[in-house]
Amino acid sequence: AAVEAEQELTDGFHLVIDALKLNGIETIYGVPGIPITDLGRMAQAEGIRVVSFRHEQNAGNAAAIAGFLTKKPGVCLTVSAPGFLNGLTALANATTNCFPMILISGSSEREIVDLQQGDYEEMDQLAIAKPLCKAAFRVLHAADIGIGVARAIRAAVSGRPGGVYLDLPAKLFSQVMDAAEGEKSLVKVIDAAPEQLPSPAAIKRALDVLKSAKKPLIILGKGAAYAQADEEIRSLIETSGIPFLPMSMAKGILPDTHPLSAGAARSTVLKDSDVVLLIGARLNWLLSHGKGKTWGDAPKKFIQVDIEPKEMDSNVEIAAPLVGDIGSVVAALNQGIKSGWQAPPSEWTEAINARKEVNISKMTQRLLKNSSPMDFHSALGALKQVIKERPDAILVNEGANTLDLARGVIDMYQPRKRLDVGTWGVMGIGMGFAVGAAVETGKPVLAVEGDSAFGFSGMEVETICRYNLPVTVVIFNNNGIYRGTDTDPTGRDPGTTVFVPDSRYDKMMEAFGGVGYHVTTPDELKRAVDEAMDSGKPTLINAVIDPAAGSESGNIGSLNPQSVVKKK
Ligand code: ADP
Ligand code: MG
Repeated sequence: AAVEAEQELTDGFHLVIDALKLNGIETIYGVPGIPITDLGRMAQAEGIRVVSFRHEQNAGNAAAIAGFLTKKPGVCLTVSAPGFLNGLTALANATTNCFPMILISGSSEREIVDLQQGDYEEMDQLAIAKPLCKAAFRVLHAADIGIGVARAIRAAVSGRPGGVYLDLPAKLFSQVMDAAEGEKSLVKVIDAAPEQLPSPAAIKRALDVLKSAKKPLIILGKGAAYAQADEEIRSLIETSGIPFLPMSMAKGILPDTHPLSAGAARSTVLKDSDVVLLIGARLNWLLSHGKGKTWGDAPKKFIQVDIEPKEMDSNVEIAAPLVGDIGSVVAALNQGIKSGWQAPPSEWTEAINARKEVNISKMTQRLLKNSSPMDFHSALGALKQVIKERPDAILVNEGANTLDLARGVIDMYQPRKRLDVGTWGVMGIGMGFAVGAAVETGKPVLAVEGDSAFGFSGMEVETICRYNLPVTVVIFNNNGIYRGTDTDPTGRDPGTTVFVPDSRYDKMMEAFGGVGYHVTTPDELKRAVDEAMDSGKPTLINAVIDPAAGSESGNIGSLNPQSVVKKK
């Protein structure tokens, strides 16, 4: 017995922390509670940065964007049942967007859950998580924690990145085992996201198609931003002379002001191009599924670079599939165009430039108004200037009109600086992404939020103040969803899409010790943002926008079903 007492022990709590640390996980985003409160405390004591949120969905979104920014899985920690479900929304969103993330949730006693005997927060979490993520695992024995964490990490970042669920029942945390045995049970993941080289035949096929083009176009998606192959991509575009179109979160891989950017001629190049090279972009709804009016009548050939073989032919035929990681594939393409490459015909690039000029000058007119109340364009004109002067700041953006117009107006100059609603077009990522981006990069964050979008994560302004993060939130406050002008035809209630008029969101920030501004002109807005970003203090700017200024659902109003029956 005396010998046993001297034996050094470890337990589930410490093994989880040691396994994460061994694999370079430096931050946990979460919300404390039974059964993971002590896990968070101990992780903090062991030097992991633990960022506690007010709602799990926002913690999950922070973890997801950490994954996008770093290529390491972002970790989110939640309690069981409701906390798990809140985190699951973010996990599903991460999976949809191909961001590596691990949701770790505590869970109730298996014996009771499986017999459905009514445990505290009873829920079969593993089964519920499975269809919504890339992989889901549960660990029942302390000795398996090392393997469980390793599997979660590898599943999240290898191949197409995505969300992984790791279920840790309450009982696991206090299980003890010999400390030395415990240490031996840990697994360091070697080469978690292996290179995947394209075959030489596939590269040749793609180059042949590309060389046949008269009107080639390169579309960069957020997979290209994620891949961190910035120099290879720049070299491919500049050497080939092929115009490029960035998807929203790919803006800045090359500056939007680059002479080969076709961003301001988007509809023209989609219609008129004859060969399209997709790099880390899917032909989903955001690209009209690669067919129909958007893409014009001229025959089109697609070359697609993606790590996920199943992505090929998902919507239209891919003439030259390039399955592999973007860094390796683009390097091979660069090798192939080193000699004997001919720049695209000048008629093509000149036509694009002419269209760009017309569109840019039209836009510039609309940005210059220094009116009060502001409309979206005049307010965005001020913010466009802010990012031009602070190109290393991170822009978080969500809303309807606030999103669609900002995407077009605000030029980006550096990769992975624009973080937005992504593949689902989901509202609610704002404050989670802002916190995650500030924590991971240490850079100033400018979050440009519709008043409605902000509401989904607004309570996290307390988190921003508590951790004293350099986040400036600008609320485009037009009193409601899309517009602030709806009324209830019966006269009983406010219209269904309006909020309390003339709300002062800036007071929310002040309530927690941050700085608030209330602005009504573009000049005031610019001054307030500059002060905020110079100071680095948590700031919220309530920017008053004309309640009549927005359009229904921003750019995607056509997705609203229409009633064909008019009630008398
Ligand atoms: P966007 O919305 O910007 O068009 P998507 O999310 O639709 O971008 O597409 C991103 C694509 O990038 C996904 O199909 C994903 O499989 C792919 N991808 C992500 N990382 C890599 C990588 N390192 N190499 C190759 N493809 C990748
Ligand atoms: Mg609004």
